[in-house]
Amino acid sequence: MQRRIRTVTGDIPVEELGWCQTHEHLFLQKGKPYEIDTALCMDDFDRSIEELNAYKAAGGGAIVDAQPVGSGRMAGAMAEASYATGVSIIACTGFHKQNFYYEDSFIFREKEETLAGLFTSEVTDGMLPSGRDEKKRLEARAGVIKVAVEKNGVRTNAAYEKLFAAAAAAAAKTGAPVLAHFDKDADALALIEYLGQYNIPANRLIACHLDRARYDIGYHREVAQSGAWMEYDTINRLKYHDNEKEFKLIQGMIEAGYAGRMLFSLDTTNKRLRAYGADMGLDYLLKEFTVYMQQRGLGGYMRQIMVNNPAQAVAIQKGTEEKRTAASAITHHVPLM
Ligand SMILES: [Zn+2]
Repeated sequence: MQRRIRTVTGDIPVEELGWCQTHEHLFLQKGKPYEIDTALCMDDFDRSIEELNAYKAAGGGAIVDAQPVGSGRMAGAMAEASYATGVSIIACTGFHKQNFYYEDSFIFREKEETLAGLFTSEVTDGMLPSGRDEKKRLEARAGVIKVAVEKNGVRTNAAYEKLFAAAAAAAAKTGAPVLAHFDKDADALALIEYLGQYNIPANRLIACHLDRARYDIGYHREVAQSGAWMEYDTINRLKYHDNEKEFKLIQGMIEAGYAGRMLFSLDTTNKRLRAYGADMGLDYLLKEFTVYMQQRGLGGYMRQIMVNNPAQAVAIQKGTEEKRTAASAITHHVPLM
């Protein structure tokens, strides 16, 4: 079977993905995340399009929008933006940290089987326009299943246990990769072991933010050794650390032979997107960090890390098909939350 990637406009062969950043936030409507941090809102369609166009002009081919269902995801906008710009967008189902949902969210209300069914059907049938009792599905499908790992992981509380079980069941059933947010000190090895109980191998896991959550190269090598994808997305995120510190980690991993397990991304917010007033944009990796890597003798790894690796990491393992979503099927880009 030819491996494919599920984008919001249909399934594409892995060779068509191009340069890909595997954890961005291109769209995010105002809601609970914004109440926690005003950087967490990108709801201006034209500005987000401007970012995508700049990304494409710099050579970008695809991005993963890492906001899952019900926490401000703008599924319709992603599909419309992908048609408008030609950039492939891979959407997420699954769940984020619990404080990103209102108390009456379906995330807390529904039982495990219902949530597993929702996450599965968002990959196989189509996404909900919002997470709130909205029955009308879009044709656009999610291609990745997100999970959020706090310090105590699956065992943080009963609500998380239920969500992890639902997400793992959906990942096992659909063959979609698991994209994991890791909080400070959260343990990727524990998640790998947990997913193993569902017969999900470590190479189906994209481990995000470990470059700020667990800054310890020995630990990184251990996680990479398991086969998981190491996503470095704290690049130029100066509130955590500078690029020199980030580069030391990247260099150490490449020297240890793990270039084939690495991914790069920016985990954008409105404070990291030029069209929203920031001093950098979605094109930062392709325009500036590439030069930074070249100046330090590692520019030759960029294509592997940003083209070849994402194509493997983001691919769906089963049941993919030809492109099928018609542009006319996209209803509107106004979210219904
Ligand atoms: Zn994120």
